[in-house]
Amino acid sequence: MVNELSNSLLPVYNRADIIIARGEGAYLFDEAGKHYLDFASGIAVNSLGHCHPHLVNALNSQAAMLWHCSNLYRTRTLETFASRITTHSFAQKVFMTNSGTEAVETGIKMIRRFHYAKGTPRPHIITVTGAFHGRSLACISAGKSRKAVEGFEPLLEGFDQVEFNNLAALQQAITPQTGGIMLETIQGEGGIRVHSPDYLQAVRQIADEQGILLLLDEVQCGMGRTGSLFAFEQYGITPDICTIAKGIGSGFPVGACLATDHAASGMTKGSHGGTYGGNPLATCVANAVLDVILAEGFLSQVAVVGDVLKKGLLKLANQFPEIIAEIRGTGLMLGIKMHDSPALLVEALRNGGLLTAASSNDNVIRILPPLIITLQQAEDALHIIHTTLTKHKR
Ligand SMILES: *Cc1c(COP(=O)(O)O)cnc(C)c1O
Repeated sequence: MVNELSNSLLPVYNRADIIIARGEGAYLFDEAGKHYLDFASGIAVNSLGHCHPHLVNALNSQAAMLWHCSNLYRTRTLETFASRITTHSFAQKVFMTNSGTEAVETGIKMIRRFHYAKGTPRPHIITVTGAFHGRSLACISAGKSRKAVEGFEPLLEGFDQVEFNNLAALQQAITPQTGGIMLETIQGEGGIRVHSPDYLQAVRQIADEQGILLLLDEVQCGMGRTGSLFAFEQYGITPDICTIAKGIGSGFPVGACLATDHAASGMTKGSHGGTYGGNPLATCVANAVLDVILAEGFLSQVAVVGDVLKKGLLKLANQFPEIIAEIRGTGLMLGIKMHDSPALLVEALRNGGLLTAASSNDNVIRILPPLIITLQQAEDALHIIHTTLTKHKR
């Protein structure tokens, strides 16, 4: 039965052979009743873990009130979310989407439209190696990962890719056609790769000098994952455009493209849209997520638990130097860089009761727990990793 079902799915995913039936807090339970400490969080999505009571209540009451009415009318849930996220960020304008990809698409269109509206089209956007911005044609054209683009050409024109964290390469790539620079503040799929603060600050300055827009893609690293609401806060910069998704819905599909009034100035009536974006179910959940993340002390606790976890991982890296090359990241966005492919270790950890997520680049195991984990759960995960590495070594 199980095999029949999975055979009818487009085989684009390599799924583990366990059937997840239920989630509670930081744990997932399979149909056989085995529980897993979920340090993958649906790939940085379940920011408040599984079935958080505040989110369940919010969604249940919204479900009995209003599901959908289109963007032809106003709703409180949407306007409340827009007002809160702008109050807590650099942005003055918000466009809601159903996914990270759509948020990035919106940002790319916004950059092109900004220069078009000024009468000086500058349609090119600079991206960096290892980038991941989603799977639409525009997003794979921006990311340029070989695996993601193979067989899907012709790609969308206008993305110029330069080496990660290389300022000189970025400066050289700027032409009169360059309208924007798009970066993940911290790369997720690329292997939890962190830019140097100097680099990000210099990129901000170059964008200002050249009159081009800086888009920071925080679909994975944003919404509290690094211990601040946005990861860029830790670098002392703000973008012109920022894309969010994943953690803002904690499992409900929702994303947003945030922008300054200036950057959004080309997006006039009728220039963009979407049927579902800003839907009451999605925005009510996003509001409920903000209630928790913005509560006093929540983000500082993310930083505290993240530090404990990182220290523990660094200790393991010292104990197992023949397996682990490096520990990366900050807050609860951490990476174990391996000497070899991480696939076997990810599987062994899963068998040991800990879920993690391999990155598609650079042999990294991503540690992306729900932001609500306790210190004890961080210690439990370190214990499972230690036991698994000990066996792995033999
Ligand atoms: C996951 C991700 C996306 C794409 O989001 P989807 O919701 O899968 O469409 C875009 N950018 C980054 C940085 C991501 O991690």
